[in-house]
Amino acid sequence: MKYNLVVIGGGPAGMMAAGRAAAKGSKVILLEKNRKLGIKLLLTGKGRCNLAHQDNQPRDFVKEFGPQGNFLFSALHQFGLIEIIDFFEKKGLRLKTERGGRIFPQSNSAQNVCRVLIKNLKKSGVEVKTNSPVKKIVIKKRRIEKIILEDGQEIKANNFLIATGGKSYPQTGSTGDGYFWLKKMGHRINKLRPALTPLICAENFLSQLEGLSLKNVEISLYQKNKKIDSRFGEALFTHKGMSGPIILDLSSRIGQELEKKADLCLSIDLKPALSFSQLDQRIQKDFAKKSNRFFKNSLDDLLPQKLIPVILQLSQIPLSKKVHSLTKEERKIILHLCKEFKLKIKKLDGYQKAIITAGGVDLKEVNPLTMQSKIIDNLYLAGEILDLNGPTGGYNLQVCWATGWVVGNSVKLDKKENK
Ligand SMILES: Cc1cc2nc3c(=O)[nH]c(=O)nc-3n(C[C@H](O)[C@H](O)[C@H](O)COP(=O)(O)OP(=O)(O)OC[C@H]3O[C@@H](n4cnc5c(N)ncnc54)[C@H](O)[C@@H]3O)c2cc1C
Repeated sequence: MKYNLVVIGGGPAGMMAAGRAAAKGSKVILLEKNRKLGIKLLLTGKGRCNLAHQDNQPRDFVKEFGPQGNFLFSALHQFGLIEIIDFFEKKGLRLKTERGGRIFPQSNSAQNVCRVLIKNLKKSGVEVKTNSPVKKIVIKKRRIEKIILEDGQEIKANNFLIATGGKSYPQTGSTGDGYFWLKKMGHRINKLRPALTPLICAENFLSQLEGLSLKNVEISLYQKNKKIDSRFGEALFTHKGMSGPIILDLSSRIGQELEKKADLCLSIDLKPALSFSQLDQRIQKDFAKKSNRFFKNSLDDLLPQKLIPVILQLSQIPLSKKVHSLTKEERKIILHLCKEFKLKIKKLDGYQKAIITAGGVDLKEVNPLTMQSKIIDNLYLAGEILDLNGPTGGYNLQVCWATGWVVGNSVKLDKKENK
């Protein structure tokens, strides 16, 4: 047999697995449908690549994945945070930890992360074949016999890894091909849905706020009048809704609630450091300083410029009213708009804008010690194709490094290669 391992998919999981298997002596070929490897990786962390998350204990890391997280203990034991940092730093990529435990390259460049992985493939002798979409996988007696590329070429091997990622950002090559093949092989694919995704909201004024970024705000999720979740941090207005870290992290919960047809809205506290009465005092002070101005010119010190016309409009207070003649009730309207700026949620943005795909290969059918399929004997799985979805913060790439490395480390050497 020419190859001991065929890796399908040149994303973070596939590249890590291929490099490790080859370093251990396997003859490996990596097949990627795009012209280049790691196209999605280059987009990560807005081009800065948040490649891992600093947690005190593996237990804290797995908790973020809900009940499925336990599956990761063994992979993290074999290739945890220390090993990941060591892997990249030994190859010349210095890392840094930012606020909230987010780990980035010191160069702030996803390109550099990708370069390290590609260099590692070359050094360990992996044969890389880009522009090579896999079209078909042929199964014989619970084993993959061969794969067939779109151009008709057939490749046989002892072992195969499917690391084709999820369905989100399909323009990067992640079009869900792996789910289709695996379902046909008899694997259970748990319900797929876009996750870590922006929101589409109902309000027409949102187009005026596009691009406005909010820092240190608290956003609460309400179902009818009941608060069901809440996060502090950063968010961003988009043309038709909201995005940014808080929203992406709330999106999984929002998706679940929307499936139950829940009536949902967001309430943004623009001044969470101040209580209602503290903010009221602050507004009174501002208004006292500006008592002779028109109301429309009174909010500059309180709110970001882009938000002021919207708040003015929502307040329904006459714009040409002088500040000194505003009533207590009118001041309270401003106060409430600052503490409870409401948006009605229509839906989640789809796979085009989702950071990851929730759902995927049922973890009960994968050996957590090796990432080997329990359905097909010579098949391994790694990365986003597995039914694991973490929050933002480097969790999802860390899963790719850990599961990819475990595959590369677990693939048994061909007897001939052992000689
Ligand atoms: C905009 C954006 C920002 C993100 N930022 C972060 C971040 O900062 N931190 C973080 O932890 N996570 C981040 N993520 C998530 C992270 O990028 C993914 O979880 C990760 O890329 C998944 O890696 P993977 O190797 O499993 O799959 P992918 O990266 O999707 O790679 C799969 C590869 O398989 C190839 N392929 C698919 N089908 C075939 C086929 N038939 N034949 C051959 N090749 C095929 C694809 O072309 C692709 O290159 C981000 C995602 C997006 C979209």
